[in-house]
Amino acid sequence: MSPSQHPLDTPVTYVKRVGPRRANVFASMGIHTIRDVLHMYPRKYLDRRSIVKIRDLWQYVDTGTEVTVVATVRGKDIVRSYKKRERFILVVGDEQSFMDCIWFRRTRTMERLFRKGERLALSGQVTDFKGTLQMVHPSFDRLTPQKDDEEDEHNWDEMFNTGRILPIYTETADMKEVGLEGGVLRSIVMHALEKYGHSIEEYLPEEIIRQRNLMLYPQALPAIHFPRSGDEIQRSRQRLKYDELFFLQMLLGYRRRGARLVPGISFMVKSGLARNLVDQLPFKLTEAQKKVIKEIASDMESSKPMHRLLQGDVGSGKTIVSVLSMLVAVDNGYQAVFMAPTEILAVQHFTTIRQLLEPIGIEPKLLIGSQKKAEREPVEASVANGEAKIVIGTHALFQESVSFYKLGLIVIDEQHRFGVMQRLRLYEKAKTPEVNGRAPDLLVLTATPIPRTLSLTLYGDLDTSILDERPPGRKSVKTAVRSKNERDKVYAFARDEVNKGRQVYVVYPLIEQSQKVDLKAAKDGYEELQKGIFKEYIVALLHGKMTREENEDIMARFRDGRIDVLVATTVIEVGVDVPNATVMIIEHAERFGLSQLHQLRGRVGRGRDQSYCILVHYLNPFNKAAAFNRGTLTERSFEKAEEKEKGMVRLETIASTEDGFKIAEVDLKLRGPGDFFGVRQSGFPELKLASLIDDRELLYIARTDAFAIVKNDPHLREHSHDALRRHFEHYMKPLLELTRAG
Ligand code: ADP
Ligand code: MG
Repeated sequence: MSPSQHPLDTPVTYVKRVGPRRANVFASMGIHTIRDVLHMYPRKYLDRRSIVKIRDLWQYVDTGTEVTVVATVRGKDIVRSYKKRERFILVVGDEQSFMDCIWFRRTRTMERLFRKGERLALSGQVTDFKGTLQMVHPSFDRLTPQKDDEEDEHNWDEMFNTGRILPIYTETADMKEVGLEGGVLRSIVMHALEKYGHSIEEYLPEEIIRQRNLMLYPQALPAIHFPRSGDEIQRSRQRLKYDELFFLQMLLGYRRRGARLVPGISFMVKSGLARNLVDQLPFKLTEAQKKVIKEIASDMESSKPMHRLLQGDVGSGKTIVSVLSMLVAVDNGYQAVFMAPTEILAVQHFTTIRQLLEPIGIEPKLLIGSQKKAEREPVEASVANGEAKIVIGTHALFQESVSFYKLGLIVIDEQHRFGVMQRLRLYEKAKTPEVNGRAPDLLVLTATPIPRTLSLTLYGDLDTSILDERPPGRKSVKTAVRSKNERDKVYAFARDEVNKGRQVYVVYPLIEQSQKVDLKAAKDGYEELQKGIFKEYIVALLHGKMTREENEDIMARFRDGRIDVLVATTVIEVGVDVPNATVMIIEHAERFGLSQLHQLRGRVGRGRDQSYCILVHYLNPFNKAAAFNRGTLTERSFEKAEEKEKGMVRLETIASTEDGFKIAEVDLKLRGPGDFFGVRQSGFPELKLASLIDDRELLYIARTDAFAIVKNDPHLREHSHDALRRHFEHYMKPLLELTRAG
């Protein structure tokens, strides 16, 4: 340990009972130091005060109450009933009495899990089976370590009997493998606190602590592990949540500030190309589009770099807004780049934008990975010498061989598919002599409406514009949920539409893990339709494994109406624009996420005619209660049932609303925010306790406090910020540097 090192940064191996094997498992979880151990928070607690003695269980029989007992394993057995069904019986007892715990499934595995003499906390509902108390499939926590571990100085049973609240930590299979479970984990945390707890210091300014009525950090950290009351759990969690949100907002505050310190380009918004284009459009801009264009224009005029997020539901007309912005850059002698997340989308955008720009005589360029050298080199050359004014492309734009001449505006579509880091790489590319140290403007487009708390965090360094109005004449899409048994009717309906001259999408899911099976399903579906109900029509198949030429060819033919039915894997998810397509059939709709379904539906309803979206699901009803009564409800089947229920909720949500914001809220509830956008890859510290949704009040408070500090004392020079500065520089700054590389 180096002398300057903080005691809490001592390697975890300095704690008793952590040898190399355990340290390895800890390391794989990102736990390297004492500090890390102390930030491994309990998943839940076992409250000794709510524990019932076995002899007192009778009063709970068949009341549906969940109770917890603490007992020792006395015996175990696998029994076969007359129906040949096996069950595993675990006999447990406390001082006075015994009860049976029963498992009907995975009996062999369960049998191996328990050792005679070990102490367990078991929770579940109690039944009376012929005079014996029983718990069926109780959940359990191990109280004594499973492996022999003599050097345990803490007598957990004793502590237990004194009425403590015990922390229960998440235990992975890897952890259990090396005995990192139950009491061992608790004693490791306890040792760490005993040996190093005195070096935990408060780092927040006193004023914040007082004003926000926070528990002190040196108290909160021990308390979250070994609380003495429910109140302590609340207070310590609140404090540590605050810290997570506060530092997150500090990072955002600095990032925002840093971005604003670099000089930007003061574009002149003149009545040039953009005006020309507007005059030639076949439609009038919506009020929302006008408002947003004004916001963008004033950002572009400013000498500070623009960092703007444009949120607009599917079909709200983001493309034209971004094209007009790009023309402002071009008018000023700069280049503009438009980046899309997939090749199909890039090509689609390229086609649309080329058509849009044709009347004003500007030729955009396309740059994607699958282009051949001969095709690519001239494009790269024109990008480098400034001849190419507007460049549309994918990740290929980051490539070594690409260099810009004078890049003034970056537009990124569907940013959540790119990480922050990728955004920054484009910034690097923009640093050419011609721009003279000025940062390009940035416009990010997203069709996924994001609740404000999330957008503050994910895009906290961006200003937001919202397109909240659909272009006129758009009809709402009629949405229906149908089971696979009704497919015939669904396709008969689709054929009627094709008879009227309309076009149909049929979408199949495609996920990485089951690509082969999924691809086959799509191919089979395609053949079934081609040979069956649509045999007089033209059906085509589009999937990700095809070459770009094939892809482009099919999309072009579909756009021109030369294909009636397009069977596709999710490659058409975003951006495709064919107004004559009026039916969207989604096969295995239960396998899609909410925002995917919403995006897919957005492919129809783009023309004059009534459009339809039909969600075909393959779910069988599953009755949890019945399975429980049959004794066939296992943990796995329970999970499956939950999945099914969630699948159904998703479908019903889509059917009931077209409001992207409502859909996003349900999505968040079902999936939890962690999952929502892959927050992790976006370059932010992980939130262990705080939730961007449930803790929104606290988030706003922490944001206010953090932003005030960044604004008033950015270098943390004030005496009252000494501890904060030390902490921030050490633990947060690396993250800040990382995300501010640009
Ligand atoms: P988004 O990218 O937001 O999903 P698009 O930009 O692709 O939406 O626009 C969807 C369709 O609406 C396009 O066909 C576009 O030409 C059309 N559109 C855009 N703005 C208007 C408008 N103000 N009036 C009528 N149609 C419009
Ligand atoms: Mg779009």
